[in-house]
Amino acid sequence: MSRAIDVAVIGGGLLGLATARSLLRAQPQLSVAVLEKEARWGAHQSGHNSNVIHSGLYYPPGSLKARLARAGGEAMIRYCEEHEVPVKRTGKLVVATSTSQLPGLETLADRGRANGVTVRRLNRAEIAETEPHVAGVAALAVADTAMTDFGRVCQALAAETGGLGADLLTGAPALSFTTAGDRTVIRTPVGEFRARIIINCAGLHSDRIAAAAGDRPTVRIMPFRGEYAEVRPARRGLVNNPVYPVPDPELPFLGVHITPMLDGSVHVGPNAVPALARQGYRWRDIDPRMVGELLRDPALRGLARRFWRYGAAEISRSLIRPLFVRDVRRLVPEIESRDLRPHGSGVRAQAVTADGQLVDDFVISRTPRAVHVLNAPSPAATSSLHIGARIASDALETLDLPGPARSVREAC
Ligand SMILES: Cc1cc2nc3c(=O)[nH]c(=O)nc-3n(C[C@H](O)[C@H](O)[C@H](O)COP(=O)(O)OP(=O)(O)OC[C@H]3O[C@@H](n4cnc5c(N)ncnc54)[C@H](O)[C@@H]3O)c2cc1C
Repeated sequence: MSRAIDVAVIGGGLLGLATARSLLRAQPQLSVAVLEKEARWGAHQSGHNSNVIHSGLYYPPGSLKARLARAGGEAMIRYCEEHEVPVKRTGKLVVATSTSQLPGLETLADRGRANGVTVRRLNRAEIAETEPHVAGVAALAVADTAMTDFGRVCQALAAETGGLGADLLTGAPALSFTTAGDRTVIRTPVGEFRARIIINCAGLHSDRIAAAAGDRPTVRIMPFRGEYAEVRPARRGLVNNPVYPVPDPELPFLGVHITPMLDGSVHVGPNAVPALARQGYRWRDIDPRMVGELLRDPALRGLARRFWRYGAAEISRSLIRPLFVRDVRRLVPEIESRDLRPHGSGVRAQAVTADGQLVDDFVISRTPRAVHVLNAPSPAATSSLHIGARIASDALETLDLPGPARSVREAC
């Protein structure tokens, strides 16, 4: 089977589905196929994350993350409410556990205010009133944080996008790309698609897809596994709402946090351990190609040189449980090793520049035949509806068609 279509979206996570939705809301006559290699939607990052709708606290004012997180978070809350996906505004605390972290807390408060986030400074006594089991010298109470279930958001997006007329195909990996005239031909096990434009939302594989499609991605993906533990039911009362540490400003990760889920369970994590496979959910998942890249690729070698101390500490905390528990106890001193049991992991698709820097902001690149999403780490789940609208807008401009509503384009 070979089909001519307008747009092929590669990847059925939140971004691929949200992009297909935006395309069809703006231009219902378009033929759009979403190709997902797994048997279900949101099988990777979108279904393995902390389920936090972030507020926009952390991001440098003016960055894409800052512009898309605040408005995107509100849009996500509304979407959940309208599509019967569980959602709850919980707020959260970011806690400084030592005086050396106070300048970092101040920077966050300034960034949050600049990004339109409601933040309130708490002293030790006020922390105890809100979270009696949490220890800290000061904290920020962040109002605009919510919890949801992003796996359910994927299902809602797939149902809605299918209803708008998208051809939704699971078990459909994009295997190769060739060109035929002004079309890109995508070969999959379920047939061939000849698309006017491809949209690469392939997450952990996005750099490889961009290269296979004939473009030269400026970044490569380094997978970072985030491991979770679950607090045993009798100790769930140790926190009421999400509690975060002050993050290391050198790293694009938020630090191990303690998060009550909407189903009542309480999760601790995720850490950030270099993974040895793109889908390296466990230590034993080792892909020789990935290991080869780590050894040969100057960018990844540069990254390893720059962050070896951090990497070694994270690996130790992953392998030596008392070290992990010691870190969690800085926030919640009463927590003990026997209160925690391993609870799965997610793998972040983190972009690295040619000179070995971790990329902080979202990266979306555009060519005459393609839009490639090359870095969409947290808070991309929060912002997915707005990122999808922005990508759709880029694609429609390339196709010379009007894009999503002006208000959404301006927010982007
Ligand atoms: C541990 C962890 C915690 C996080 N916590 C949060 C949080 O609390 N809040 C938040 O906002 N964000 C969070 N994030 C980030 C968020 O999950 C991601 O930014 C978001 O899910 C990215 O969505 P995506 O669609 O780009 O990627 P993905 O969900 O990874 O989707 C990519 C899809 O492409 C498919 N694919 C790949 N190659 C092919 C191919 N050749 N053919 C067809 N399909 C292909 C994959 O199977 C996959 O389904 C977290 C991420 C992790 C890993």
